[in-house]
Amino acid sequence: MEFRKEIKSTEILSPLVQFESEVQLIEYREDPLTGSQSRINVARAERARQAQGGEVKVKEVIERTRAGCFFCPENIVQRTPKFSPKLFPEGRIKRGECLLFPNLYPFAEYHAVATLSERHFLELDEFTTEMLVDNIIASREYIVLVHQKDEEAKYPVWIWNHLPPSGASIVHPHVQIVVDRAPTPELGRLLGESEEYFRRHGRNYWRELIEVERETGERYIGENDSLAVIASYAPRGNREVQMIFKGVGNLADLDERQTRDFAAAIVKILHCYKGMGVNSFNLITYSAPLKQRPDHYWLSARIISRPLFQPVYTSDAGFMERFYDVWVIETLPEAVAREMRASF
Ligand SMILES: [Zn+2]
Repeated sequence: MEFRKEIKSTEILSPLVQFESEVQLIEYREDPLTGSQSRINVARAERARQAQGGEVKVKEVIERTRAGCFFCPENIVQRTPKFSPKLFPEGRIKRGECLLFPNLYPFAEYHAVATLSERHFLELDEFTTEMLVDNIIASREYIVLVHQKDEEAKYPVWIWNHLPPSGASIVHPHVQIVVDRAPTPELGRLLGESEEYFRRHGRNYWRELIEVERETGERYIGENDSLAVIASYAPRGNREVQMIFKGVGNLADLDERQTRDFAAAIVKILHCYKGMGVNSFNLITYSAPLKQRPDHYWLSARIISRPLFQPVYTSDAGFMERFYDVWVIETLPEAVAREMRASF
């Protein structure tokens, strides 16, 4: 596969900040499929963040936001919207602790929210496989329902922002589900480049990626029949881990076993994140459109850690990320994989 060759050709070590006796290495990496650029300097994790700090009052924020929370059991039925009877006569989808309902402030025509737990706050090691299974099954039901009513809505997204540094406005654990008519630009690139790779090489890029990463081992974390877990070579966020499904193209096609394995993998990664001192993250999916055969494209999910939720923190998204499409990273993917491998 070209992947290995491309890894070598893009791995440029730039030894070059000299200050007293310190030498820092900056590694330039490109995603082997899309060319997305990352720059890794692990020394940046140690840099001074002048404004950051203050007492850790996360517990206070949790207590303060619990009173009157829309997603807590005493309010959720009265204070969250319902789907129109045309889309879903029962108004909402309920499964286990999960309740799925329309987003009050949507940025898509089909944009839903689904809670993960009846508890207002959970530590990262308190989420269970069962909670996630219920949530993913309810989300899939919504995706299929939308597509049945509107065939053009066929690009499903399942995403989880956790705590304010990730962009979450509500502390209570929840995911969002969007079903769009067109892919987002990054998904469009992944689908297009995967198709092009298949046309040129007659092979599925994602299958090859798993094989190469398993063989080289540096970023490989673990796998089972459903999915492989790998630290991304060129991450778009710190501690980025991808879960690549085998032989499945889109979210609606996940069967019971694959859903359970997905949920279990997320629970393990969250346990590892907790051990690494992380409390905020984004988890996203890159799904092919519904009904597409998984010949050239396999469904994947990615998770990144975000700055620690504390009274004042320094954002990890600066001008390089917001305007130049370059991801400045302070965690080495190979070290992330090494740390997580034992849990898989
Ligand atoms: Zn709540």
